[in-house]
Amino acid sequence: MAIKNSQTQERGLAVARTVAELRHAIAAFRAAGRTIGLIPTMGALHEGHISLVRGALGRSDVPVTSIFVNPTQFGPNEDFAAYPRDEAGDLAKLEEAGCRLVFAPDKDEMYPGPQLTTVHVSEITDGLCGPLRPGHFDGVATVVTKLLMMAMPERGYFGEKDYQQLQVIKRMARDLAMPIEIVGMPTVRELDGLAMSSRNRYLGAAERATALHLYRQMMAVARAVRDGGASCGAATSDATKALLAAGFDKVEYLTVIDAESLEPVERVSGPARVVAATRLGRTRLIDNIAVD
Ligand code: AMP
Repeated sequence: MAIKNSQTQERGLAVARTVAELRHAIAAFRAAGRTIGLIPTMGALHEGHISLVRGALGRSDVPVTSIFVNPTQFGPNEDFAAYPRDEAGDLAKLEEAGCRLVFAPDKDEMYPGPQLTTVHVSEITDGLCGPLRPGHFDGVATVVTKLLMMAMPERGYFGEKDYQQLQVIKRMARDLAMPIEIVGMPTVRELDGLAMSSRNRYLGAAERATALHLYRQMMAVARAVRDGGASCGAATSDATKALLAAGFDKVEYLTVIDAESLEPVERVSGPARVVAATRLGRTRLIDNIAVD
């Protein structure tokens, strides 16, 4: 355990392994008059995660990052066992970024007994990744609820990179009257446009070169359908063909959706997003951009 005495000073990273340690450390920040910004992650941190820490600092919250590879949001044939883990590297990046507290529980701390309670958000989980990853959003909504209840932050910071997840969490917080503001932060990308993701570590050199086509094709769709121009079906069908020709193994979906309801749209007439899920070798890549 490493809750240091530095926790109410202006720098220094403490690590809490238990809920009791987390609450104790947060109480000390609160006693010093600070607000808390929780950043839930699964570790293997990159600049996208760090931008959430900066978002919290920008709002004067004490950034508290959780690192927990949540088994309940992985399907039986998914990459839970292989998911990259690098706690030492993560802690160094977080300290450097000005994060003050890390919550890194083990599985027994997060799920001390059988979890009989599940948080389920309906309708907006019916499409996109919902049917492709059965149980995924229940796992996410439940673990995020637990993390929010454990830390009771003023704000929770989440990336637009996982756009459907962000809408699920916003809706959950609203429907359950959680006294917590859910802040969505823009997607951080590599120079060639590839959205940063812990799973990019799985990509070999040739796959990495292919991966940039995803952003390019999403941009092409956004340009084509903007202001009700081309039909969304035609634009996404062209882009799907281009991705398969570029070397993607599968396009699970590439769709233009209403930014709030997440329903597919055929002609853009309001806020909309291009959303995509693809397979490249053993890597599943998801991404999305605003149409405007
Ligand atoms: P993960 O560790 O993949 O569960 O992600 C933790 C948080 O970081 C989620 O809110 C993600 O949406 C967010 N995130 C992941 N990648 C990025 C990125 N490239 N830019 C911004 N936020 C991101």
